Amino acid sequence: MFRQAIKWVRANRDLLIDVSDQIWQFAELGLEEFKSSKLLIKTLSEAGFSVSSNVADMPTAFYADYGKGKPIIGILGEYDALPGLSQKATPFKEVLTEGAPGHGCGHNLLGVGSLGAVLAVKDAIDLGSVSGTIRYYGCPAEESFNAKGYMVREGLFDDVDIAMTWHPGNLNMLNLRSSLSINSVVFKFHGRTAHASTDPQNGRSALDAVELMNIGANFMREHMITDVRFHYVITHGGEVPNVVPAEAEVHYFVRAPQRYQVEELYARLINIAKGATLMTDTTMEIDFLSGMYNTMYTKVVADVISNSMKKVGSPRFNKADMTFANELKKSIPKNSLEEYYKFIPPDMMEFGKAILSQTLNKSIIPPMGKGKVDLGSTDVADISWNVPLGEFGTACEILGSPGHSWQNTATSGMSIGHKGMLTAAKILAVSTLEFMQNPNLVENARKEHNIAHKDKPYKTPFPDGLKPPFRRLKK
Ligand SMILES: [Zn+2]
Repeated sequence: MFRQAIKWVRANRDLLIDVSDQIWQFAELGLEEFKSSKLLIKTLSEAGFSVSSNVADMPTAFYADYGKGKPIIGILGEYDALPGLSQKATPFKEVLTEGAPGHGCGHNLLGVGSLGAVLAVKDAIDLGSVSGTIRYYGCPAEESFNAKGYMVREGLFDDVDIAMTWHPGNLNMLNLRSSLSINSVVFKFHGRTAHASTDPQNGRSALDAVELMNIGANFMREHMITDVRFHYVITHGGEVPNVVPAEAEVHYFVRAPQRYQVEELYARLINIAKGATLMTDTTMEIDFLSGMYNTMYTKVVADVISNSMKKVGSPRFNKADMTFANELKKSIPKNSLEEYYKFIPPDMMEFGKAILSQTLNKSIIPPMGKGKVDLGSTDVADISWNVPLGEFGTACEILGSPGHSWQNTATSGMSIGHKGMLTAAKILAVSTLEFMQNPNLVENARKEHNIAHKDKPYKTPFPDGLKPPFRRLKK
């Protein structure tokens, strides 16, 4: 049965590559993935999936079901691109469309690898090898905010037994690292305009408030746990020096390993912002853009995926792939690999060294990172607090390639990315079939999840009534 699913992906590789390449060309930003989501929906409905589109207040969010009854296995797909990363599928920098977005995080592969998995599982259901429901979750805007958190809030994950996802990366590896919880918030200050030279006494500078808030926040850094990260950009600071800015705003990310820590820091940051208004005689409003949890993986799911990875094997890169990769490697900063492998635990150094000698990861790396925290944030986390979840990566990029880069846009649009994607589709399909065949695995995963979350109930990180931040989209 596992062989059949792997065979299905192999036999349908042209279809999957075609859909992936189209999404790569569309390269649509978060919440604007109209063509990308339409193409995925079309492919799923043509295969007989029943689709619910335009869910959770987002036109590009959807889910699609096939089969019936329990267990319900959910596979997550993403398809948003990143601004300014347009690039041809060449091993040297060559913009495809000037100033346009590009798939520098490989989400075209992510969406279609997951698509391949659910289609292969559908085939197994049709053949009568397994029973249950396979569900594809079309999750928009991963790069921008917690879209999945809105889907969770809408109850779209209430009936799912297991959720699985993957991410294009430079290693074939199951991830056990958690991620940082985060709040993304814009503080908008309002003051009064005046001529900055002739009657400054009449002005109240919103920019002063932003600057004083940032000073306060930077002093707060001394009195926080060391794992906290926060950073800001001034998104509006006025127009010209001779007009006292009446409007100014600053966008903050507050990150910490645990949700309660983010909430605590965020409350302190609000006080700092209030303090800035007192000092400058201005007013302030908060535009809460997004909040996310930290990821909590379920071991039972991780083990199933890990076994599937061994069954499926790693992507098979050929000579042409290697030539492309070696050419691309010339643009990678020399020490980027060494920096990257600082993250390898000492007991894994043996593997680390073996990997260092590769340009493309051709082996399966044992699961790594248990008890460690990745310093990024992901909205997969919010699902992991509600459903037993596992995640892995396959080699779709060259080793040492920076995240969110033109190099990754390039490999996401050619054979290296395609091979990583097809491998991921097989791994997800095989894992799903394993769960569908063994109800006790599903039950064990649920039990483990319930124990882990017994004293940690999930409460949406969004303030009441919060809507997806269409208001912040760049026109
Ligand atoms: Zn990504």
